Amino acid sequence: MDQSHIRNFSIIAHIDHGKSTLADRILEMTDTVEKREMKEQLLDSMDLERERGITIKLNAVQLVYHAKNGEDYIFHLIDTPGHVDFTYEVSRSLAACDGAILVVDAAQGVQAQTLANVYLALENDLEILPVLNKIDLPSAQPELVKKEIEDMIGLDCSDAVEISAKSGQGVEDVLEQIVAKLPSPSGKPNAPLQALVFDSLYDPYRGVIAFVSIKNGTIKPKDKIRFMASGAEYEVIEVGVRTPKEVQEDELSTGDVGWISAAIKNIENVRVGDTITHVENPAEKPLEGYRQMQPMVYCGLYPVDNARYDDLKDALAKLKLNDASLQYEPETSQALGFGFRCGFLGLLHMDVIEERLEREYNLNLIATSPSVIYHVYKTDGEMVAIDNPAALPPAQNIDRIEEPYVKAEILVPKEYVGAIMDLCQKKRGEYVDMQVIDEVRMQIVYELPLSEIIYDFFDKLKSSTKGYASFDYAFTGYRPSKLVKMDILLNGQIIDALSTIVFKDFAYRRGNAMTIKLKDLIPKQQFEIPVQAAIGGKIIARTNIKALRKNVLAKCYGGDISRKKKLLEKQKEGKKRMKMVGSVEIPQEAFMAVLSMD
Ligand code: GDP
Ligand code: MG
Repeated sequence: MDQSHIRNFSIIAHIDHGKSTLADRILEMTDTVEKREMKEQLLDSMDLERERGITIKLNAVQLVYHAKNGEDYIFHLIDTPGHVDFTYEVSRSLAACDGAILVVDAAQGVQAQTLANVYLALENDLEILPVLNKIDLPSAQPELVKKEIEDMIGLDCSDAVEISAKSGQGVEDVLEQIVAKLPSPSGKPNAPLQALVFDSLYDPYRGVIAFVSIKNGTIKPKDKIRFMASGAEYEVIEVGVRTPKEVQEDELSTGDVGWISAAIKNIENVRVGDTITHVENPAEKPLEGYRQMQPMVYCGLYPVDNARYDDLKDALAKLKLNDASLQYEPETSQALGFGFRCGFLGLLHMDVIEERLEREYNLNLIATSPSVIYHVYKTDGEMVAIDNPAALPPAQNIDRIEEPYVKAEILVPKEYVGAIMDLCQKKRGEYVDMQVIDEVRMQIVYELPLSEIIYDFFDKLKSSTKGYASFDYAFTGYRPSKLVKMDILLNGQIIDALSTIVFKDFAYRRGNAMTIKLKDLIPKQQFEIPVQAAIGGKIIARTNIKALRKNVLAKCYGGDISRKKKLLEKQKEGKKRMKMVGSVEIPQEAFMAVLSMD
């Protein structure tokens, strides 16, 4: 196909504004997917995405649009996640595109991730097409929202299409605007090959599959290629596109978005953001890669069964291929044995990775309480970055501890301003600014410690505003705080994996809440178990887990064997995500108790 008839674009929006639904309609109206194969949010292909109703991974498909001018156009459509944790996926999708469709819910208006995603699109020099969605809703106010987009973003909305992605109304106009208003790829087919790797996955039979956007040149089977950052060289075996079924092609040319396989078994050789070129006649320099995202949250991941450490290691390497923002390194815990300290972009990201490891790699894991990175300045002048509370130096060696702060921008209807300010104040926030957006909404800016917002800030924000608030945050720097390490003792023994770093003034309250919570979460044993919280060896809270009175088998009167077995199995089932530490069994929930403390 003639390059002028190609359009590469992403759909960007705040979460739930209708990206995936619009993608569905586009696939349907271009007959890309047959009716009987059509299901809602088709591009959300991971089970996890379908169950949670959110897009986690970017997803690229090729489709053909028969335009009103009688000509056929090839579209490469890339659906993206909207949640703040997955901005990394969005920035990668955008680098593979020339344009973006900005979907805004006409009932909700511009939200925090609408703005964040627009900025990303602008950074990538993309042409942006605004689209007003959900005009079928009685509460839709497309005119008001258009004005909001013009005022807040500065995008001209005089031609903005009003659609219902649900019913399909107006979607054809979007397709026509893609043809008329979005640019075609500008690369040169005769120039040396430059293919941007924007995603990858591991296939047990074919090795690494790399998803690429061809910025210059062409690539076909038998070509000798080089990954410019890693230097690794391979011979291409297959190339193709996704429609969304995998289809093999003879070649991929400038402007195409597709996949290549080259029997790549060594996972480390393929890095998302790298450029592929030919071994002969190579490109002079690689394409601009992506900003490497810094993880915001860390936790330890340990196999429940110590024998599966190597399986976990293998699984992490494979998952990292598909999610380059994941970081990990080996760590040991006295309580939990051998595992990995892993870095994530946020709590949702952490949750998703953990669940993918369990499902896709059949692992049983214990995750320790999440932590941010603290900068600890020691009395000898050295600074150490601590991502695991258990590794904090002894208090007498610490001069001061600094913690990461973020600037949070919150969009909220006026009547909830008080509730938001209350919440931010409680979370040690410092007021920065407040602005009127329109007659009904305000933008509030606070600086907050990251550790306070990674936990339950988002949930609290939603529950105190009936779901109407949205927020985005960006790291601003480190600041000194009064922080102390709080240890938890079970049966008189410190459990390193339960240690946390807390704000001093909150320590007593947290210690109390934590011991009470652990008392409820840890199963009773044959003996009484004291649960204590301590700071620097001083006990600040204490409670007891009472001894078990009955055992489950007592009910069976020693008779029915099969019933006995069933009961034991049931017990085992419940034990799945528990770890024996000394003589006490600790369930997964205990490690997350710190997340919902006040
Ligand atoms: P995404 O998070 O941006 O991908 O949003 P989804 O496509 O998953 O849509 C979020 C919710 O909004 C789903 O329940 C959709 O059914 C619904 N939705 C999407 N488009 C429309 C629309 O045009 N009208 C109405 N009434 N609901 C819509
Ligand atoms: Mg989606």
